[in-house]
Amino acid sequence: MVDFVDRAQELEAAHLERSLLMRPCLSNGRISLQRCEACGDEIPEARRVAIQGCELCVECQEQIERMSRR
Ligand SMILES: [Zn+2]
Repeated sequence: MVDFVDRAQELEAAHLERSLLMRPCLSNGRISLQRCEACGDEIPEARRVAIQGCELCVECQEQIERMSRR
């Protein structure tokens, strides 16, 4: 039980990372782009596979979501 907190934080960090990676894209197309449409950065393969029609990297996706929330 001693390292329970450490383990929990570890799991939480892993979960956060995964949820960012798997964040749904705005596009509903079928084919994911290899590179972000907005900044040209490469989109991680895990994200491309998980989200069909993904066109934005995690950073750009977040920015757009942040802007659209206002
Ligand atoms: Zn981008």
